[in-house]
Amino acid sequence: MGATASRQVSRSTYDNGQNEVTDADARSYQSESADSRSSATVSQIVKGKRSVIPETSPGHGGMVSSSVTMQTLARKSLIVATVMAFAVPAFAQQAEPQMKHQDTEVYAPVPPTVTPGKTDADPPSDAIILFDGKNQDEWVSAQDHTPARWIVADGTLTVSKEHGVGNIETKKTFRDYQLHIEWKIPTTITGSDQARGNSGVFLASTGPGDAGYELQVLDNYNNKTYVNGEAGSIYKQAIPLATPSRKPGEWQTYDVVWTAPRFNGDGTLETPAFVTVFFNGVVVLNHFQVEGQTLFVGKPFYKAYDRAPIKLQAHGDKSEPISFRNIWVRELTFDPTYKK
Ligand code: MG
Repeated sequence: MGATASRQVSRSTYDNGQNEVTDADARSYQSESADSRSSATVSQIVKGKRSVIPETSPGHGGMVSSSVTMQTLARKSLIVATVMAFAVPAFAQQAEPQMKHQDTEVYAPVPPTVTPGKTDADPPSDAIILFDGKNQDEWVSAQDHTPARWIVADGTLTVSKEHGVGNIETKKTFRDYQLHIEWKIPTTITGSDQARGNSGVFLASTGPGDAGYELQVLDNYNNKTYVNGEAGSIYKQAIPLATPSRKPGEWQTYDVVWTAPRFNGDGTLETPAFVTVFFNGVVVLNHFQVEGQTLFVGKPFYKAYDRAPIKLQAHGDKSEPISFRNIWVRELTFDPTYKK
């Protein structure tokens, strides 16, 4: 009978969908025998529902004395219902209500201080300058690692399409980084589709030629091509989220965040690469999970590497060569992990 009584009270108190106790509910409960009520606990009354007031909660648990009158118990049910209506959301939001604000405030590790550039295009104080308009000393041939032989003039680095020159890559190698690079399609550009201002930024160069992970460079101002081969795509993997191309003759920017893939000791993939790209200030890749090295023909694949150069593409099409300027990179080495 006690269980019956508690179920009835429970239903009348909470199963009406309104979380309210009506006068009729209270009267219904009063018609039950004193014995059944004497064995009911307040916690039993609320059990079977989504939330239960802990038995140890002061003022809410424990046996209801048999000396309690029917009316008093009905009134208590009403009080419990009222308390629960407010207490349940409070418990849900505050898993640890005894915490102080200091418990979630962290003072280490301290991030490095960085002085930003004069504008957001200028290198911050911790940037490695890869091209500042003066020379290509930071670059070598991707084919044989001899000094780069592209064309430096008027503060820009222009692709050489001369036979045998090919792609260039940085002398330095990188893992995770932030990259800023600017590029321009010449006003004299000709061609169409992939044969119009094609170049590329390989975010990790894993070998000669086009081996690696290519962020496509192309004139897409008024030039249709397959969408996963547009400027701002991870070539043949990621369609950019927008096409914010500027017209030939205007400088364009890529700001890239590259998280390199990690590999296990046996060469298998541990975690894939991720990339975020702003193209002329517009996000075109948002933490895209890279499927592997980019290929003209075939499916992407991962091959283990640790650190890699950044590579620029001298594409073999016949359109006029494009130019680069203001290239800098920041290695992302700070580990913000802290003990909780
Ligand atoms: Mg390309």
